[in-house]
Amino acid sequence: MTIRLFNTMSRKIEEFTPLAEGKVGFYSCGPTVYHYAHIGNLRYFIQNDVLKRMLTENGYKVTHVINITDVGHLTSDADSGEDKMEKGAARDNKSVWEIAKFYKDEFLRDFDDLNLIRPTYMPHATEYIQEQIDLIKQLEELGYTYEIEGDGIYYDTSKFVGYGKLTGGSLSGNRAGARVEFNSLKRNPTDFALWKFSPKDEKRQMEWDSPWGVGFPGWHTECCAMSMKLLGNHFDIHAGGEDLSRIHHNNEIAQSEPIVGAPWVKYWMHTSFLVDKSGEKMSKSNGEFLGMEAIRSRGFDPMAYKYLVLLSHFQAQLAFSWEGLESASNGYKNIVKKLATLLSETDKGTVDKAVYDIWHDKMLSTLSDNMKTAETLVIVQDLLKNSDINPATKIALFEFVDRLLGLQFIDRANKLNSLESEVAPAEVQALADARTNAKSEKNWALADELRAQIDAAGWNIIDTPNGSKLVKKI
Ligand code: AMP
Ligand code: ZN
Repeated sequence: MTIRLFNTMSRKIEEFTPLAEGKVGFYSCGPTVYHYAHIGNLRYFIQNDVLKRMLTENGYKVTHVINITDVGHLTSDADSGEDKMEKGAARDNKSVWEIAKFYKDEFLRDFDDLNLIRPTYMPHATEYIQEQIDLIKQLEELGYTYEIEGDGIYYDTSKFVGYGKLTGGSLSGNRAGARVEFNSLKRNPTDFALWKFSPKDEKRQMEWDSPWGVGFPGWHTECCAMSMKLLGNHFDIHAGGEDLSRIHHNNEIAQSEPIVGAPWVKYWMHTSFLVDKSGEKMSKSNGEFLGMEAIRSRGFDPMAYKYLVLLSHFQAQLAFSWEGLESASNGYKNIVKKLATLLSETDKGTVDKAVYDIWHDKMLSTLSDNMKTAETLVIVQDLLKNSDINPATKIALFEFVDRLLGLQFIDRANKLNSLESEVAPAEVQALADARTNAKSEKNWALADELRAQIDAAGWNIIDTPNGSKLVKKI
């Protein structure tokens, strides 16, 4: 099937062809583990997961890397300010190593709750210090580096022809200024740290010996060193959130291409931001953000959040609101309910191969066309509505949908069916009986109050022509 993807480098949708037949090397810039992942970060990982699933369903063997940034990411893009990890450790009153482990485990919990397929490799930046030193040494030998005394080893961006090409910038153009405060000792505003020296008279929790002195690697170096080691000198897809393209990814290219030749990476893919109602980017650094715990504690299924994410295209910003999540959750539950009815039918028929193939190809080709997730979900709805298709064929197609989008429709529908047959405990049944009495006495306020109590106990009360029925909430 033809795969088309928007490549940030060419600013065009291109036909995807891998470097090696049948295989895809895919690198996603991973989380900085100084805090919980927020739902904006997770939007990006959901999109990456669906991209990987789409490639797999097209027959490719995908090697996927998500790195764990546990050192070197400073609070300022100008290579100054505090180390985010050290700052997080001070906030939590723990060591840097402790918070790295804690927030990585929390990240993996969210990852699994969202049914994202674990990557092939999850390397930590701190496990690749020697590789980063070797890379900096190679750049030094090629004449791309200089030292700022007492500060660090820097990359001279004026030496790299085409610097900034990923975002169409140039050395004298858009990158200098605005967001990047200028360290006057740098030769060019866009130069960046490869190796930072530990401050004199201060023992950092994370520091290593190097040919230039004790210190730690700059953030942009880790992704080059780890991707080259795990995916080879050239690979197919490199992804990140849209904030990474202008600085982090242009800097990665500037470090890699002098060593391995251009183009280092074939396709660059960037996910747009998740923003709040006022259009503000959700970010860890301002301290106010929503994580999966906020979603879980309000009783939402993580799949409802995933469904919300997939209703928007990865290149468009997604404005998050609780009302939006509520309506996505209802949409998700409607699909689950219809599927549950199909699963409980006694006469399902047999899978019609011709019909299966048509719908399978329709969904896969839509998703393969630059990741049209929302349009793929419209086809899923159409499939459920179509009365010419028997239950067995629909169920087989839902097994495919679950592989393709990872939305766990069948799992939730089976759970719903088993919940439907679950008997409510006596105290909840007593509340339901009291509500029936209240209704017959037309005491609507009491009936509403009793419904709220039933709801709080984890049950739904459904009024049917034959009386009310208690169904355990999903
Ligand atoms: P971080 O943990 O901050 O290093 O970010 C991990 C990934 O999430 C990076 O690829 C970021 O570009 C991405 N990201 C950060 N904030 C957002 C957001 N509000 N929406 C979507 N992606 C984001
Ligand atoms: Zn990176």
